[in-house]
Parts: sequence; C-alpha cells; structure tokens
Amino acid sequence: MGKIMEWQNMRLSPHFSMFELCRSDEHPHLVQPPNTVIQYWLTWWARNVLEPLRDRCGPIRINSGYRNPELNRAVGGEKRSIHQVSVSGEIVGVATDIVPLKMPIDTALRVISEMPELPIRGCIIYPKRGFIHIDSRAGPRSFFESPTKGVYLPLSRDAIKKYRIAA
Ligand SMILES: [Zn+2]
Repeated sequence: MGKIMEWQNMRLSPHFSMFELCRSDEHPHLVQPPNTVIQYWLTWWARNVLEPLRDRCGPIRINSGYRNPELNRAVGGEKRSIHQVSVSGEIVGVATDIVPLKMPIDTALRVISEMPELPIRGCIIYPKRGFIHIDSRAGPRSFFESPTKGVYLPLSRDAIKKYRIAA
C-alpha cells in the first residue's frame, strides 16, 4: 500500500475517516495529506461534532471537509475559508458541508439548533444545493440561509423553528 492510502484510511472517530473529511469528487488530484495540526483539528471535529450529530440525524455524507489552499481555490472557496483550517499559519476553525442521508436538511437545521453544546458557531443552510455548512468560527453561534451564491440571510431562533424548504 502506498503512502497516500495510509493517511486516507486513518479513522478519526467511530464513523468518520480522514478520507471522508479530505476527499474531493471534483478535484481528486488536488487532495493531499493534511499536516498533523490539521489532523488534530479534524479529529476533534469528528469526535465532538460529527459523531454527536450522527447520533441524532443518522448517517451523514461529507460533501466537503478540509481543503488545502489549492483545492479551496479550485472549488471557488473564499480566500479565508474555514474549510482550510489554517490560513497564513493561523487556525481559523474547522468546516464541513454535510448532507444527512436519512433526514431532510431543514429538519437537520432544527436538530443542530437544539444542540447548543456542540462547538458549531457558523451554520449555513443551502436549500437549493441541498446541504448544510457547519463550522467552528470564532464568535457567537449564528445561522444563515444562502438562497444564492454569496448571499447569506441571518436566521433568527424563531425562523429556525419554523424553517421549511419550499417545495
Ligand atoms: Zn462549507
């Protein structure tokens, strides 16, 4: 087995592997092994966020997790995207775009709002694209809806309770 297989097969937590948090379907050739600091943060995220969330939502697909700067550019991510974990040597947090496989994303949004103990600070629902972005940015917890690219509408506590994706 080559070196790439070894790091990709690392388990971060009972249900999540390094591969799931680093892969890219669109740009597999840009995927690289994260350094040990980034590995630490991905492990922390899998154990403290993804596992407890999976307990409530069921199996979760990770659409996008860690992106090295090159991969982040290729997918059109923001320059300081939290998906990079480290930006210019500064840890900016951890981010994952998730799709619960057995729960509608609007229900999952409410579930996340009912779990304030999770270190999720940024939560963005993309109703048209069908996923939820969660991250550990600095600051108070905030929820947004992104109806179109680059638009983020804040969601109040009441709005989250009633949130339904229009059919
Ligand atoms: Zn994201």
